[in-house]
Amino acid sequence: MSVIGIDLGTTNSLAAYWADGRVHFIPDENGNRMVPSAAVYLEGEGIVVGRKAKEHLLNGGEGAASFKRFMGTKKEYMLGGKAYTPMELSAMVLHKLKEQAERILPEIEEAVITVPAYFNDKQRSDTKKAAQIAGLKVERLINEPSAAALAYRMQYGSGDKSLLIFDFGGGTLDLSCVECFDNVIEITAVAGDNYLGGDDIDHLIAEYDCTRRGLDYGRLGPKEQAALLKQAEAAKCCLGGTTDDGLSLTEEQLFEICMPLFTKMKELFLHILEDAGLRVSDLDDLIMVGGSSRLPVVKRFLTELLGKEPVVLGDTDMVVALGAGIYTGIRRRDAEIRDILLTDVCPFTLGVETFRRQGEKKGYLLPMIERNSTLPASRRERLVTLYDYQTAVTVKIYQGEEYFARDNIYLGEVTAQVAPKKAGKEWIDVYFTYDINGILHVEIVNSKGEHNQILLANQTLGEAELERHKKEIEALMTPPLEQDKNRKLLERASAYYEQSTGARRERLGALIHWFVAGMNSGRLYRIRRAAEEMERQLALLEEADERREDLLFDGDLKWDLDLEDLGDDDGKDLGNSGN
Ligand code: ADP
Ligand code: MG
Repeated sequence: MSVIGIDLGTTNSLAAYWADGRVHFIPDENGNRMVPSAAVYLEGEGIVVGRKAKEHLLNGGEGAASFKRFMGTKKEYMLGGKAYTPMELSAMVLHKLKEQAERILPEIEEAVITVPAYFNDKQRSDTKKAAQIAGLKVERLINEPSAAALAYRMQYGSGDKSLLIFDFGGGTLDLSCVECFDNVIEITAVAGDNYLGGDDIDHLIAEYDCTRRGLDYGRLGPKEQAALLKQAEAAKCCLGGTTDDGLSLTEEQLFEICMPLFTKMKELFLHILEDAGLRVSDLDDLIMVGGSSRLPVVKRFLTELLGKEPVVLGDTDMVVALGAGIYTGIRRRDAEIRDILLTDVCPFTLGVETFRRQGEKKGYLLPMIERNSTLPASRRERLVTLYDYQTAVTVKIYQGEEYFARDNIYLGEVTAQVAPKKAGKEWIDVYFTYDINGILHVEIVNSKGEHNQILLANQTLGEAELERHKKEIEALMTPPLEQDKNRKLLERASAYYEQSTGARRERLGALIHWFVAGMNSGRLYRIRRAAEEMERQLALLEEADERREDLLFDGDLKWDLDLEDLGDDDGKDLGNSGN
């Protein structure tokens, strides 16, 4: 059985797999690895997907392209007198990729497919359905920027990094801030423009060329426009390193032509940094992704923007597929890469059955890990007894979105003994921890501290594997503020707070506040940043005190930014977060 990784793109798609310690890309019968995400109906041939379809469209023919933009909607495309949805068209592209892969690999069963980070539930589930139609089982969707970050880590090692993924494709520009640390990759902010891509450059070039020839682009017929656009793309790609025909263009001219696009890019760039609470200098690297990132003028623009060179990981339009290919290696648990985790979102809700009143027949589902929570996720909830002198509590675990617990998928249960007391007077703590591999660990602890647990895995794992996961999960299970290191930091800060007066006390109060909010944010990178910053501020204060200097705080208050950031994002008043 084989697993393939697929970059299902707006303009181009491609597939990759992991073997012999590296990623291999899957070519078609002519050696082309990119499959244009386009479909047309040709007389006598029926529906045709890929290169031939793109060629037909470039020559002014009719068909469907860029349908990924409408994924999750009911938009219809007519092909040969029949209507198709973006999901069905995507299924055709996936099917073509599967066919290509089957010429190389035995029995393709599973696929890991990348999707934009901003894709919502519907778009994600339609992507999965498309795969199903194509005969592929999707174990996992991964975010495109996470895949790119994974490719970066394979090359640059797994040190702590703040990255910006700059994905400039055919129709879209997607920016993502990504934090990498330990064995985690987490997206912290996204921004972009769904209508800013290589196609726009082609249009600008075509218009520019018309103007210099004294023509009006808008007045050309559809066939002429199509022909000119085709030439424009060829001229552009020539500057980006491909061969040429027709229209000629210098790099300087293209830089000028692209100016309006660069202006928009700069705005988006500043916007995402603000969202992520980062300054340009905080970015360790910017990674160029997407076909349009092949253009030297784009690199030049980014170099000016950053004040240093962006990172190019080989062919920019293959980086996402490269990451998807690496991920299939992780899934196969190849020793070299199995330790890289990707944070992701949980696509469904996990919870326990709870009753509001004695005698109720059907309990409702108390969500423990909500749909779309960032993974790995961990949560604790205290439940009280329902009956007088109850001696045991059974916690039933379900997955799904239905109100009544039993209408969801039953996963398992755990039972704990409790001391017989009046209803509501005895309690248990329920801990849910769901990790990146789809393994759910549920533990219940009664008031005497006795515990029972269950490990639910959605795949068959060996004993040793389970043991390893258990260890990882145990580390995740303790809420951040109860972890030794963080608890000590808070104690240290609190002691300082008590000793201080005036402005210093006020600042310390705010720092503690920010720290606690960060610890409770449920976002790994914030938890980590809160700990680092607290450590740093305390060390500075202690040093200053030793030297008997009157230091309030490090002048460079990075955490001021984050304080606002946290307040905004969580949408609640931090002053009340402690109740
Ligand atoms: P998507 O992610 O949107 O599916 P890609 O990342 O494959 O698409 O990017 C496609 C875009 O890249 C097209 O607009 C194409 O013209 C452009 N492109 C491909 N090769 C080059 C090149 N050598 N130089 C400049 N642009 C290129
Ligand atoms: Mg892409």
